[in-house]
Amino acid sequence: MNDKTKHSASDTKLVTSGRHADQHAGAVNPPVFRASTILHPDLETLESKGQRYTYGRRGTPTTDAFAEAMTALEGGAGTVLLPSGLAAVTTAILALTASGDHILLTESCYGPTRAFCHGLLRRFGVDFTIFDPLIGADIEKLIRPDTKLIFLESPGSLTFDVQDVPAIASIARARGIKTALDNTWATPLYFKPLAHGVDVSIHAATKYISGHSDCLLGTITANAATWDAVLDTHGRLGMSVSGDDAYLGQRGLRSLSPRLQRHRETAEKLIAWLAQRPEVSRILYPAHPRDPGYALWQRDFTGATGLFGLELVPAPKAALSAFFRGFSLFGIGWSWGGYESLIVPAHAHRENQPGNGERVRISAGFEAPEDLIADLARAFDRFNAARPKA
Ligand SMILES: *Cc1c(COP(=O)(O)O)cnc(C)c1O
Repeated sequence: MNDKTKHSASDTKLVTSGRHADQHAGAVNPPVFRASTILHPDLETLESKGQRYTYGRRGTPTTDAFAEAMTALEGGAGTVLLPSGLAAVTTAILALTASGDHILLTESCYGPTRAFCHGLLRRFGVDFTIFDPLIGADIEKLIRPDTKLIFLESPGSLTFDVQDVPAIASIARARGIKTALDNTWATPLYFKPLAHGVDVSIHAATKYISGHSDCLLGTITANAATWDAVLDTHGRLGMSVSGDDAYLGQRGLRSLSPRLQRHRETAEKLIAWLAQRPEVSRILYPAHPRDPGYALWQRDFTGATGLFGLELVPAPKAALSAFFRGFSLFGIGWSWGGYESLIVPAHAHRENQPGNGERVRISAGFEAPEDLIADLARAFDRFNAARPKA
């Protein structure tokens, strides 16, 4: 793994964008505005909506600070903030579809994204088709006259498939179809969906952006062609974020680059060790030279983060339970991207993906890699003790 993170103007934007210290008494960080009511000086200003801030739900300097930084990083026309990553996914989809439309949805997407399409969108007359994330330019064959949106997630946060985003986005654009991409794994630092032809980039800022497992937050950054629709739907749905959470989002951005470097460094140390283990049949990490997504990752991404998967050799359920019972450092829990390492089973086999062992997903945190490896070594001892002897 010799492709180290490329530093770029984005590193500088992480530090400078959205802050406006001159407007906040020189404070380095924008203050937290907690506001519902915002006062107007007179009737004329109230009626003309002639001031920048009109009501807390419609934004404050704190939400602006985070949104402005995300817009700068993603290179979009604007960003809206939402109370969770899932709210960002669902709001983006609602903004870009109407009754009678059809969506193409990648099979590698976050589970609740698919569940939203299945369980709620269908009730409102929006149909969808799941496609193989590795479809590339063959997406063209699945396009129907009523197809209005292609939803991507690359790499998938459970399957780690990397999609040929430029190929899919250029076909979509030629056919007048909008594209949205869940960019949570790469963060705005390592992949730029809009620069690759995508219309809308979505983040669960809950993960690496906030980075401390203490905040739920979503963002949608839209290009000029989709910004009005995204802003309108966001407003009509009443989506808003507290000043405290918006503050944590923008604060997380400031240290995102060094945090991600550390996440990746540890992930690579764990992977180098795991790849030698007889209990591991496969590593799922786009920055790993043997990963099927490596070539696309190298072409389109400027770095890698610390979330990866692995496949264990086939074993009874009791061995998997033994593996998970007794970690001293790895936490067993959903979400990822915080400072603490996490491990979960990842039951997300795609239909056409090889392999028949259990999958596990690891979010590499900031503990000493040697301590994490020792924790995993003990887990493999438990796993082996609970397996039938060969
Ligand atoms: C976690 C996650 C989400 C949802 O984010 P929440 O803040 O938990 O709602 C969406 N997409 C991906 C890829 C995620 O990992």
